[in-house]
Amino acid sequence: MKVEGEGLPTLVRLRNIPRLSPRQKDKDMEKERCDVSKSCDSCEKERACSSKEKEEHEEARLAQKLSHIRNKIMVMSGKGGVGKSTVAVNLAASLALQDYAVGILDADIHGPDIPRMCGVENRPLLSHGVGVNPVRVFKGLQIVSMGLLSQDPDKAIVWRGPLKHKAIKHFLGDVNWGDLDFLVIDLPPGTGDEPLSIAHLIKNVDGSIIVTTPQDVALLDSRKAVSFSRLINVPVLGIIENMSGMACPRCGEKIDLFKVGGGAKAARELGVAYLGHIPIDPKMVIRCDAGKPFVTDPEPSVVKTTFIRLSQEVIKAMDRRAGEIASVVHSDLEK
Ligand code: ADP
Repeated sequence: MKVEGEGLPTLVRLRNIPRLSPRQKDKDMEKERCDVSKSCDSCEKERACSSKEKEEHEEARLAQKLSHIRNKIMVMSGKGGVGKSTVAVNLAASLALQDYAVGILDADIHGPDIPRMCGVENRPLLSHGVGVNPVRVFKGLQIVSMGLLSQDPDKAIVWRGPLKHKAIKHFLGDVNWGDLDFLVIDLPPGTGDEPLSIAHLIKNVDGSIIVTTPQDVALLDSRKAVSFSRLINVPVLGIIENMSGMACPRCGEKIDLFKVGGGAKAARELGVAYLGHIPIDPKMVIRCDAGKPFVTDPEPSVVKTTFIRLSQEVIKAMDRRAGEIASVVHSDLEK
């Protein structure tokens, strides 16, 4: 009798503990061994997780990767051909020349020009460990681009939004960027899928730079780029006016080929900072086609000095932003 009375509650208690089926046990053990740094797409234990768990895992993985990048900056333009990629490359190269660790993410899936502009178009992206290594341009500057994945540079990439989103997600989450001071993201012109994907995936992009040329049609589209950046909650760091006048190669007289001053006027009207202007320099095209960032030219020039100054404006803007974030965190903690 005594033995039965003592045994009964024990049995009841045991029955109340949810029992794991052998299959569930296996799944849980697999999850425990799950490697956070690995993408679910390439994980052999992936079948053990629900789609919600996979989503959470991928988010945590991306956040972990991005936590190693101090400043994420988008370079945008309202229309093509205004020199947006040229500005992105030279801004990034200027920062790298000042000993910052810099990456360029070429988010222009359909027209990836960054590898060509950096002279690395024949260097493929190589797998390393659980990810892919970005291609090194020179000390402190590395890039990732669709152009480094495509076998045939003449082949058009015909992808809709979800595929482009996936590619950008890989560029952020599966690339071994390491610790970066700056990630400069070169976006395609306009206000399409790519900036939306970037803003959605990175969540706290530190700022956008809008590149424009001075004529009215370009300015009209740049205004849209400013309002779009605000719409996706990316602070506008400022407007750069490119192709802003040129010096006549014969007499040195200034020629305002596309007018000047429109960028500054638009910045004033839109209430954003004006970061400065870059003149037209025929050498820019030559160096760009030769795959040499302009700022690596040993010869001194107005354009080179301008890029270095612009990069310093960006550093200052980032410092200000870091200060603002720190004071918000501080006042939140004091509440
Ligand atoms: P986007 O990215 O806006 O389409 P790119 O950066 O590809 O424009 O530039 C288009 C062309 O204009 C390139 O050949 C580039 O070398 C040239 N370019 C850009 N800025 C200047 C400039 N300030 N002076 C001379 N050529 C320039």
